[in-house]
Amino acid sequence: MDRTTIYDFAIIGFGASGAHLALAMLNDPFFKDKSIIIVDEDIHNKIDKKWSFWSTDEVISFPFLQKWKKTNFISKTVDLQLDLKPYIYYTVDANDFKAYCLEKVQLHKQISVLEGKVLEANEQDEVVELITPQGNVKAAQVFDSRIAESFSQYTTGIKLLQHFKGVIIETEQPTFDASTFTMMDYRKPHCDSCSFMYVLPFSSQRALFEFTFFNHSVADEKVYDQAITEYLNEHYPNCTYTVVETEQGVIPMTDYAFHKDSTNRITKIGTAGGWVKPSTGYSFHNSQKYAKEMVRRIKSVERLNRRMGKVKGSIYDTVFLEVLNHKNEWGPTLFSQMYSRNSIRTMFRFLDEETNFLEELKIMLSFSPMPFYKAILRLIVRYIFCHPKSR
Ligand SMILES: Cc1cc2nc3c(=O)[nH]c(=O)nc-3n(C[C@H](O)[C@H](O)[C@H](O)COP(=O)(O)OP(=O)(O)OC[C@H]3O[C@@H](n4cnc5c(N)ncnc54)[C@H](O)[C@@H]3O)c2cc1C
Repeated sequence: MDRTTIYDFAIIGFGASGAHLALAMLNDPFFKDKSIIIVDEDIHNKIDKKWSFWSTDEVISFPFLQKWKKTNFISKTVDLQLDLKPYIYYTVDANDFKAYCLEKVQLHKQISVLEGKVLEANEQDEVVELITPQGNVKAAQVFDSRIAESFSQYTTGIKLLQHFKGVIIETEQPTFDASTFTMMDYRKPHCDSCSFMYVLPFSSQRALFEFTFFNHSVADEKVYDQAITEYLNEHYPNCTYTVVETEQGVIPMTDYAFHKDSTNRITKIGTAGGWVKPSTGYSFHNSQKYAKEMVRRIKSVERLNRRMGKVKGSIYDTVFLEVLNHKNEWGPTLFSQMYSRNSIRTMFRFLDEETNFLEELKIMLSFSPMPFYKAILRLIVRYIFCHPKSR
């Protein structure tokens, strides 16, 4: 790192969004003579995370992807086996992904990496100065994956959480069908909440079982553990297993306008920039798409701090979240209607914001309408009375 240099670009955080953005820059000749610095407080730290996403194409050409072509959706009312075609569901270990990206970055002389915590990002007229214990760094344009403080004070809108704990187990005997994963199993929600089991079988003897909530507050660790143990006892009664890995997470599902935390020279990315799809909590594939879009905006000298994703997608997310916000126990019914009355292809296209209005209308008609009408009314009232204080 050269402390006298003013870098063209700095990326704070080498996580899902920062790593994708760095890759997108490296892959574009426009950035060949641009100086870039990545600052991450924990770049070599191992993280227990598997990142999953759906896509129609081989989105990343690297060797660590595990793939599924079929999924189950199960609740008390439906039991669906779904062929994902033309989609494939992918999973990558976060450590493999980061190591792969870091290796690529280190091959390029114009990119520097600084391991250090950004304490402050001070924006001046021509430059942003990043304050770190390892020294200060100046850059003309900064991409920042730190969530702004103002999010913690957001109280006027919807603030649900996707929170979960998962265990990867290994069994003594072949036990799982590794060709099919379980997107959601709603047969035993916790205390009438929107909660479900997610199952990813990596092989016949290794699988991830993750108990997940879409609701207002994180549960006691015992709740996730008990749900997983009971599920395993019920569905695999004769199976002897060892827990080899665990993962835990909390992902915001909110109508907070993250992109408004960006300024002229500091553009928020990742969770901090609203790259997480609010109604699903998925962000990995968005990170790839939005990193490419960011590169396009840089090259065409467009405003960088605009919202990613479509406004109509954000409206649909907000209405859906408001239904869950108000009546969390409707979750299993809503998701059962969604998956049983629409093709998985249409649902994935919808969640990727690629559907047209007719397809969207068909999806809307597949739900019982009353909770949605009421949610829209509540939102209108809230926006009229709270909007000046909200964002
Ligand atoms: C266990 C788990 C499983 C998940 N599974 C999925 C999944 O299957 N699919 C999916 O799409 N999403 C999944 N997610 C969510 C996904 O991880 C996040 O949405 C995504 O990582 C957000 O990307 P990001 O770049 O904003 O943040 P992160 O990936 O968390 O990266 C942030 C980076 O910034 C660095 N950093 C933070 N503060 C500073 C600072 N002050 N100075 C310097 N560096 C800093 C951190 O060290 C980190 O490397 C999961 C999350 C968890 C926890």
